[in-house]
Amino acid sequence: MSRHRGGGVGGWFRTDMRWMLLQQELGRWRKAGRKPTLWWRDDDARAPTPELDRLLAIANANRTPLTLAVIPDGDLAALAARLGSEALVTVVQHGVDHQNRREGPAAGEFPHAWMRIRVATQMRAGWTKLAALPGAAQVFVPPWNDIHPELPAVLADCGYLGWSAWDETAPMAKVPRVDAHMDLLRWRGGARFRGEGRVLERLRELLVERRQAGLWSAPIGLLTHHLDHDEPAWRFLDRFLAWSAANGDLTWRGLPDLLASAPHAAPATVEG
Ligand SMILES: [Zn+2]
Repeated sequence: MSRHRGGGVGGWFRTDMRWMLLQQELGRWRKAGRKPTLWWRDDDARAPTPELDRLLAIANANRTPLTLAVIPDGDLAALAARLGSEALVTVVQHGVDHQNRREGPAAGEFPHAWMRIRVATQMRAGWTKLAALPGAAQVFVPPWNDIHPELPAVLADCGYLGWSAWDETAPMAKVPRVDAHMDLLRWRGGARFRGEGRVLERLRELLVERRQAGLWSAPIGLLTHHLDHDEPAWRFLDRFLAWSAANGDLTWRGLPDLLASAPHAAPATVEG
């Protein structure tokens, strides 16, 4: 075993421990007759790139459904052509142009003082461009997970099937919401792989949370950003999905399927 990789022998030992603890937790799910549900979202696509090819190759090799959150601000024809034969891919709307227009530390496309109609107009224009892509579903993924105060209302106004942001376990919303929870990358000081031990520990924590709350079918969302992966992130992603495909302890579902069964507040019914 090399001392020059993964933080030396101590690093390998800690990573092995994480795998072991994860297996132990999966054993508790098996004993309860349950199987965790996972889904996979990748953000920021605009065009075909070698990185997108690599992402799609990993999805196909492991037969894992993939939701691509696409920014609808340029010419999407090349991307449409590239995705034409990709049966495992769902395309959803990642904002309108991924430009930060908020002031202060929190980033977001829509300043929170913007009126509902202004947000709706922008979102509709973005969806109109995106709708022609193969596998497109009218689902909104706000950049930087920024939730404009009018966003839930606009989603309903514009007929969105769902939306996806960050870290809620079983969100109740008028329009169904399915979030991501496990980020493959860390961002402070430049994007890079979060580390195998940290990702596995996060997954274990999410499983424990759901098991203890009895939320057996609350999905866990894996979040990737193909344009920002370093080599360790790519290698882990491929290995993790291959491990999952081989051992069968996790169920990977597509986003449209999850949205159809997501808990959501019933639309108000008109009496009389
Ligand atoms: Zn983004």
